[in-house]
Amino acid sequence: MSETAIRPARISRILPDSIASEIGFEPGDAIVAINGSYPRDLIDYQFLCADEVLQMEVVDATGKTHQLEIEKDYDEDLGLEFETALFDGLIQCNNRCPFCFIDQQPPGKRQSLYLKDDDYRLSFLYGSYLTLTNLTQREWERIEKMRLSPLYVSVHATEPEVRIRLLKNPRAGQILQQIEWFGERRLQIHAQVVVCPGINDQVHLERTLLDLAQFHRGEIPAVASVAVVPVGLTRFRPSEDELIPVSPEKAAQVIDQVQTLQSKFHQQLGSNFAWLADEWFLIAGEELPPESHYEDYPQIDNGVGSIRSFLKQFTAAAKHLPKQIDPPRKFTWVVGNAVEKAFQPILHQLNQVNNLRVNMEALCSTYWGQKISVTGLLTGHDLLEGLQGKDLGNGILLPAMMLKHGDTRFLDDMTVEELAHKLDTAIIPVRGVEELIEICIH
Ligand code: SF4
Repeated sequence: MSETAIRPARISRILPDSIASEIGFEPGDAIVAINGSYPRDLIDYQFLCADEVLQMEVVDATGKTHQLEIEKDYDEDLGLEFETALFDGLIQCNNRCPFCFIDQQPPGKRQSLYLKDDDYRLSFLYGSYLTLTNLTQREWERIEKMRLSPLYVSVHATEPEVRIRLLKNPRAGQILQQIEWFGERRLQIHAQVVVCPGINDQVHLERTLLDLAQFHRGEIPAVASVAVVPVGLTRFRPSEDELIPVSPEKAAQVIDQVQTLQSKFHQQLGSNFAWLADEWFLIAGEELPPESHYEDYPQIDNGVGSIRSFLKQFTAAAKHLPKQIDPPRKFTWVVGNAVEKAFQPILHQLNQVNNLRVNMEALCSTYWGQKISVTGLLTGHDLLEGLQGKDLGNGILLPAMMLKHGDTRFLDDMTVEELAHKLDTAIIPVRGVEELIEICIH
């Protein structure tokens, strides 16, 4: 784990009409202290700002220090955004999982692309998964004191030797005791299991899900849900990594196994509890479960039920589609080829609008070396290769899930602007169903 000293929290944006804009904050200013405390991260910042009087020490872009007093309602937001959520640096990963996506990237890219985060703060703030293998006593105490819950934990296996083998870390065998720790404090986790055939599948997967289900009891269950996800492999993985790709037969077997357990959990716990990522069904070539299966979509950000949810939202929003638009418009909607079939009803309905023409380009990722790709993994390289020389109409409708969180970069580091320039077309990032429709018709 690497932990650096707290740096002043550098401001990247001031929201219009906010307290901060009224005071005259500017991007580049940095907050040093609030009421005498030095915030380590966004969590401290939010906690310290929940007060009516704030004494702030701020350093401006020229290095000059200012003391400010701000009066506000305790729950009023100042309207500041920061360059990073972690003012004392990223807590890095101390594991060596053979399936790590960071290690499965091509060499020679920007250094920050190779940074492996395993930081509970990002888990709490943004729902990223962590392993709990690198937490010091001080961080455990902070999780408890600040009630940082739920956290998202990569469990993978509950048998110590299997988890140690997967994470290549002797500290990985404590997972059941750690989950108990959460339970005793009425704190919660969502879990995930990345299934690696031959390592943590079959009896090990069953053991893991049964063990985790033991913690899904009581008013505040320590384990709220588990996502079961297939291992993702790229052409850049080391040849000696002992991993086996998930075949359609393997996917069908995992679906069977988990669905049998789901019925059992449903009876005993009143919830399916363990959730299969959509990818399993796409790999196996099987129908996705119906919308009613997903309860309140507890693992949607992990690709569990996201296709069903998108279709459902589209059906509701499509009721307001106009009969015709003017002037005529034509768009290219880019998706991963894994969802080509599932999204045909959407395409069909959009093309019922007179003067609107949406062409779907369902691509695979040659960059990662995959024949079947989910949308979120397509890179700038894939789009350039797949779309060059084609008539793209008025522009590309780009699912924003291809871009990094809060950024305009694809996973291969190409920017949207760079790609738009190379393809000589407009690229419109689309966040969800409503934006998709909005852009098509307005
Ligand atoms: S814990 Fe995550 S970041 Fe660390 S090696 Fe494993 S997969 Fe990679």
